[in-house]
Amino acid sequence: MGASVSADCMCGYSDELRIGAGAADAGSVCYWPAVCSQCRKLVAVDRLASGHQCPDCGASVELLGDATVNDWVQDIAVESSGHALAAGPHACPVCDRNRLLFSPGSLAWD
Ligand SMILES: [Zn+2]
Ligand SMILES: [Zn+2]
Repeated sequence: MGASVSADCMCGYSDELRIGAGAADAGSVCYWPAVCSQCRKLVAVDRLASGHQCPDCGASVELLGDATVNDWVQDIAVESSGHALAAGPHACPVCDRNRLLFSPGSLAWD
């Protein structure tokens, strides 16, 4: 079952991303937030793929908050498929400052 996460920065950037996988895709894909420095935004990429690329521009992107649930994570915003996303702060793709925070999103999908 997929979940979603909201990202918000004090600069005004905010977005909501689907993470995890839908019922039809469970085990074959697992979407996770990543930063595209070309598009200057967050994108959801399949973390099970061998390379991670922006779905919009094709640039390579870095997965965010790549911690497993068993790792010590100070503040977990959301967890899905055995992975945990720390609430942050993370580097914001728009203002480049460490002020991007994640919180559980309102979307559920399957
Ligand atoms: Zn991009
Ligand atoms: Zn920002």
